[in-house]
Amino acid sequence: MSKNQNKTGSYSFFNCIEKNFDKAARFISIEKGLLEQIKACNSVYRMHFPVKIGKEIKVIEAYRVQHSHHKLPCKGGLRYSMKVNQDEIMTLAALMTYKCAIVDVPFGGAKGGIKIDPQTISSENIEKITRRYTSELIKKNFIGPGIDVPAPDYGTGEREMSWIFDTFLSLRSGDVDALACVTGKPVSQGGVRGRKEATGLGVFYGIRELCHVKEDMYSIGLDVGLVGKKIIIQGLGNVGYHAASFFHESGAIIIALAEREGAIYNEKGLNVSKVFLHLKNYGSILNFPEAKNIENTEKALELECDILIPAALENVIHKNNANCIKAKIIGEAANGPITPEADEILDKKGVIIVPDIYLNAGGVTVSYFEWLKNLSHVRYGRMEKKFRENVNAEFLKVIETVCKKKISIEEKKMILRGPREIDLVRSGLEDTMINGFHKIRDLKKSLKIENMRTAAFLLSINKIIDSYEKLGIFP
Ligand code: GLU
Repeated sequence: MSKNQNKTGSYSFFNCIEKNFDKAARFISIEKGLLEQIKACNSVYRMHFPVKIGKEIKVIEAYRVQHSHHKLPCKGGLRYSMKVNQDEIMTLAALMTYKCAIVDVPFGGAKGGIKIDPQTISSENIEKITRRYTSELIKKNFIGPGIDVPAPDYGTGEREMSWIFDTFLSLRSGDVDALACVTGKPVSQGGVRGRKEATGLGVFYGIRELCHVKEDMYSIGLDVGLVGKKIIIQGLGNVGYHAASFFHESGAIIIALAEREGAIYNEKGLNVSKVFLHLKNYGSILNFPEAKNIENTEKALELECDILIPAALENVIHKNNANCIKAKIIGEAANGPITPEADEILDKKGVIIVPDIYLNAGGVTVSYFEWLKNLSHVRYGRMEKKFRENVNAEFLKVIETVCKKKISIEEKKMILRGPREIDLVRSGLEDTMINGFHKIRDLKKSLKIENMRTAAFLLSINKIIDSYEKLGIFP
């Protein structure tokens, strides 16, 4: 048993990321101490606080981890789950550091977690816990627009982010930048349009880009493009649902969807919005009329398909099921869904794995846009929309005169339109995901790196090194 393995012989989650880091570090010649500093988690705040639930006092366990301060603020989601533990939150915070660097989002990585099951707790009590957690962070200076900025993650969403903002504001009243203390807020509370679907849309953009690279598609025996590709998605939370919808709209075929309680399968394709409606009405995807049930949800991952998208929790593809995976492409929409042992098995099988630290970075990219919006106190597009429309109208007039041809009303509408907030956010996200993909791919090719994950880590570490070298180390 190696020193990185625990009693049961499996690696801790943090060690898994260290392993991936070390594989990339082979390509870097730099002082070892700097690499150790980049790897280490800078601050771990583990807390217990009491909350009165009904007549009982419950002691709640929670965390906020700041992995790196090479750029500030720190940034990362807050998750609510009974599986929350220090190792998990440290790892997810580290992933945030690498993720932000890849997509040029100028933040250090962080993550928070509260060990509760939000499905069994009333909304009033979740609010109490969220507000108390926020006040604990404020007391220790672990939250603030320039310090550390939480966001939604597994088990949290706009509602929780609103409560965090409101608690922050009430304890820091008069802070004109208070809105930027948290992202993923509802639009009416300073959120940005397009944040909710950002991670899923980023997953879609990343996979679409890969599918358009002839050389890569031919290497795994697939045609170019997304149309007709058979896709399995595991997890129908915010990320999985939006990714599934974008793939469906693009002409890909969603053959299976897997949730905690089981999976559904239809070789001809599932209508994602109908499945979602069914889930809303019956509380489960099972028994969807146009599909077959698969009782053992894990088995859905092993079905014949082109693309597998794990979009739920970590470690779902491990050494015991990796050999049974038939997908040619795996897109890591979740954080850390593949263990290092499984990674090696899949690599040998020639599967293209698009790694989490790139593929699910759409969420934090749009969080960055939200943070900038909050600090600038103005909605994207507000200043230039009308100006653009006026310039476009003038331009059209000239074209009509020169060409001696009238342009139809429908065409005019399309050409005249100035950019709205959602247009700008989506174009910023699309550009970020396309650029990120090619930077990783180019590096992989130029250094003959074995897979995209190692190339992505290398790209990211190089950027962080650059930042440290320019900053220097404070005595
Ligand atoms: N929880 C998301 C992630 O893991 C978003 C983080 C953020 O927006 O700060 O990437």
